[in-house]
Amino acid sequence: MLNIVLFGPPGAGKGTQSAKLIEKYQLVHLSTGDIFRANIKGGTELGVLAKSYIDKGQLVPDEVTIGMLASEVNKATDPKGFIFDGFPRTSAQAAALDELLQSKGTSIHMMLALEVEEEELRKRLLIRGKDSGRADDQDPVVIQKRIDVYNAETMPVKDYYSAQNKYKGIQGIGEIDHIFAALCAEIDQA
Ligand code: AMP
Repeated sequence: MLNIVLFGPPGAGKGTQSAKLIEKYQLVHLSTGDIFRANIKGGTELGVLAKSYIDKGQLVPDEVTIGMLASEVNKATDPKGFIFDGFPRTSAQAAALDELLQSKGTSIHMMLALEVEEEELRKRLLIRGKDSGRADDQDPVVIQKRIDVYNAETMPVKDYYSAQNKYKGIQGIGEIDHIFAALCAEIDQA
C-alpha cells in the first residue's frame, strides 16, 4: 500500500493536487473537509455539529473527526492506498491515524507538505470563496482564524512526521502541473 498525508494550510492546493494524485496512483482520497461538507449538505447530525465549528473557522473536535475518518478507512475494500487530505490536523489525530493503520498492518509512508506563504493563501481563499460559494472562504475574519488555527494546532503535525523522517516539503506556488510533477517525483523516489 501507499499511504500519503497531503499537508498544508487552507488554500495551499491540497484538493487540486489530490485529484491528480489519486488518478495517477489509484489511491482512495479521504478529505475530512469534503466529508464534513457532504454531511452538511445531507443534513446529518454530524453535518449539523461540524457546521457549528466550520463556520467559525475552528477545528471539529478530535473524537468526532477521528471516528469519522476511521469509519471511512474501514469502508474501503482492498485499497491500493490512501491520500489523507486535511487530516491529521492535530497531533492527537496523527497518533490515532498511526494506530488505525498499524491495526491494519500498514502505515503512513510520507507526508507531502505544500508550502505557501500567508499573503498568497488569503488571496487564493477569497477567490475560491467567490467561485465555490464556501462560506468559510468568503469572510476574511474566518479565513484569518483558519490560518491562525493552522499555525497553532496543525503545524505541530509537521514535527510529528519529521521525527519519523517522513516529512517532504514542496513549494506550493507556481504552475499546477509543475507542483504535481514535484509531488510525483517525491512519491516515485520513495
Ligand atoms: P478543509 O476543506 O480541509 O479546508 O476543511 C474545512 C473545515 O472543516 C476546517 O476549517 C475545519 O473546521 C473542518 N475540518 C476539516 N478537516 C478537519 C480535521 N482533520 N480536524 C478538525 N476539523 C477539520
